[in-house]
Amino acid sequence: MELAFSAAEEAFRQTVRAFFTTGYPADILRKNRAGLALTREEHMRAQAALQAPGWLGTGWPKEFGGPGFTPAERFIFEEELELAGAPAIIPMGIMYIGPIICAFGTPEQQARWLPATLAGDIFWAQGYSEPNAGSDLASLRTKAARAGDDYIVNGEKIWTTLGHWANWIFCLVRTSAETRKQDGITMLCVDMRTPGVEVHPIITMDGSHELNRVSFTDVRVPVANRIGAEGRGWFYANELLKHERLSYAHIGRKKADLARLRALRGAGAPDPRRLAALDMELAALEIFVLRGLSGSLTPAAISALKILSTELAQKITALFLETRGARAMASPAARTYLFERAQTIYGGASEIQKTIIFRELSRGV
Ligand SMILES: Cc1cc2nc3c(=O)[nH]c(=O)nc-3n(C[C@H](O)[C@H](O)[C@H](O)COP(=O)(O)OP(=O)(O)OC[C@H]3O[C@@H](n4cnc5c(N)ncnc54)[C@H](O)[C@@H]3O)c2cc1C
Repeated sequence: MELAFSAAEEAFRQTVRAFFTTGYPADILRKNRAGLALTREEHMRAQAALQAPGWLGTGWPKEFGGPGFTPAERFIFEEELELAGAPAIIPMGIMYIGPIICAFGTPEQQARWLPATLAGDIFWAQGYSEPNAGSDLASLRTKAARAGDDYIVNGEKIWTTLGHWANWIFCLVRTSAETRKQDGITMLCVDMRTPGVEVHPIITMDGSHELNRVSFTDVRVPVANRIGAEGRGWFYANELLKHERLSYAHIGRKKADLARLRALRGAGAPDPRRLAALDMELAALEIFVLRGLSGSLTPAAISALKILSTELAQKITALFLETRGARAMASPAARTYLFERAQTIYGGASEIQKTIIFRELSRGV
């Protein structure tokens, strides 16, 4: 099936493409294309460059500083960003909590957090998982006890991506012990500079420091930092996860990776049948994502999209390593291969997505 965009959308594509050759920091493109890890300062400069034409908040409504992209424009923008070799937008603020604050935040929260997120003054981390609450997230035990106009937070979060770069963290906390565990959960936004918040590094098998454990000891958090009502955190958490799971597609990056594989020649060329199978999966994913961006995906479909996106990324990097063999082991591709093992775990492991699909389909959703 051929995907066709309108003439206006194709013109928009050319505008975006030109932007990445003239309006975007060339040093960052070079470094990212070489597969090298970027510093916080480089990521912030990359995001500032995207914000110059007002494109950073890709999925945000115009009234909150987003570009007001149509689904097709958003798709094109994200695809061109990756085809250009630019680093992905760090998702926690822009893709995850931003849309939730737009939809459910108070006007005060929106005014305080949204412009600062776009300006790069607030760098968000995601505080969902805990040592014994990953797949079974509703078992989380970080406690927030009400004390006047504040909550006092105690507990710990784990696997916190870029928590060492962040200055704010959105957290799921337990505010009461209901019979149904999901009902006692609240979403709180915490300034990480508050006394009692500590970040402890975790080094992963690819050698990088992206992950952290974040501990909270008697941390005072104003009630005004709560998203929505007390005890409704599970609802907001799941709304946020829908945005998160849709953000894993990375169509442009997959196209660029497949083009690199296709360009390999001679004895080190990949098996054309495996390449063709990956091409077909990518075409299916592309159609899926376009439907998702126009808001027409059921929860089961979003889970299926997450599985397809992440497993396909792993198949592409695996084919690259298998094809290049020992030569690839010394290249940044090996690091990418190792890190991408995590894709089918974070944001809810593949097994959990399959359970969601089964449950939703059994209910006829
Ligand atoms: C690179 C990376 C970045 C992350 N970033 C963040 C972050 O920024 N913020 C955050 O809050 N969390 C983050 N996470 C945590 C992530 O969401 C959890 O790792 C994930 O939800 C799985 O939880 P767990 O690690 O506790 O594994 P477990 O829940 O212990 O699962 C272990 C294995 O058992 C399987 N399993 C568990 N329960 C079931 C079941 N009921 N049925 C079938 N199989 C099951 C799982 O699928 C998995 O294969 C990150 C994780 C990684 C790897």
